[in-house]
Amino acid sequence: MPDTSLPGNASYPPIGDAALSRLFSATYSEGRQKFLKACRNNDFAVSSHHHPSLKGPAGEDLAMDAAWFGPDTASRVIVFSCGTHGLEAAPGAATILQWLETGGPNHLPDDMAVLLIHAINPYGWAWAHRINEDGIDLNRNFADWNKALPENTAYKDIHRLLMDASMDEAGLNRFVQGFHELAAQKGMNTALTSITSGQYDFPDGLSFGGDALSWSGEVLFQIARDHLSQAEKIAHIDWHTGIGDYGRAHFILDEPKTSESYAVLSGWWPDHTIHCDDVVEGVSIFYNGILLEGLRKEIRSLNSAQIVNVTIEWGTYAVEQMVQALVMDNWLMQRAGNSPSAQIDAVRSELIERFYPKSPDWRRAILQASGPIYDQAIKGLNSWN
Ligand SMILES: [Zn+2]
Repeated sequence: MPDTSLPGNASYPPIGDAALSRLFSATYSEGRQKFLKACRNNDFAVSSHHHPSLKGPAGEDLAMDAAWFGPDTASRVIVFSCGTHGLEAAPGAATILQWLETGGPNHLPDDMAVLLIHAINPYGWAWAHRINEDGIDLNRNFADWNKALPENTAYKDIHRLLMDASMDEAGLNRFVQGFHELAAQKGMNTALTSITSGQYDFPDGLSFGGDALSWSGEVLFQIARDHLSQAEKIAHIDWHTGIGDYGRAHFILDEPKTSESYAVLSGWWPDHTIHCDDVVEGVSIFYNGILLEGLRKEIRSLNSAQIVNVTIEWGTYAVEQMVQALVMDNWLMQRAGNSPSAQIDAVRSELIERFYPKSPDWRRAILQASGPIYDQAIKGLNSWN
């Protein structure tokens, strides 16, 4: 069982049930309406990038919304984004709404602007998938598409387990068991690399990076060109869920501990550990096609800005349960087919719970922990020389 004790923060006020229902959303559509309303109330300029062909379950538009506040010529820009992994969006979006509601934009330093990017993967959020409309893990989609794609020969063993996995408890446990057997035979590094580092050969598999830059990737680069070509210093937090201790923030940097980014981020958040390559069970893994790395490269092709960006996860359940959740997401998109609707609904609701717990205590904990994280990011960017 995961440790479900939660951190408190004495310096921020307790969060009541009304705030929870105001800030957290049950659907993409609800989340988007709340975001657009909060942007209007705070005088943000919003540009909406609609998906060219797809709609949500109620026929609603799917869009990635970019919202800007502050001088157009600001030399420092802070970026907060959510929804790279579709259904992980709601908690990050709630922290953004809380920051808006508590007057965050009014306390920005001079010469700093904020860019909010809402629902990087709107299809995934709307249809309760972590992956996108093409079964792509967007955090493996930012490969260098002009070069030969990275190989992940060990993935085929995982794919065999995936094809055998059924959605009952025994079937999901069998997948985890198979994974552990693989780790025992070939080492934990190989096993974790095969399942999580990204693969480009099995479009219906796990950690599939795609065969071209996705619609979300194109739009994200467009937003960078529109808003970040003049900035001199950029800091970016991309909110996720599913890694780390229950209800706690888990910072992940895709650069080594020897990097300048590591030194900068450790200085901004001395009360948090910045995890570099020790994300799971202390094992070092090289990931392919990471979104923040791709975005850094794109921004650097526009200007000579200094950029630090970091993924912050809100921990939910134990690693094995999260591995099963990846299998459930894959099954729902690729294999559910004509399965009974009651079964599909049950798997979907369990998948959502694993990335977006219903517990009010979990939701309160992340709101309480996020307030200081926003403050520290802005203070850090302002004093970054
Ligand atoms: Zn994620």
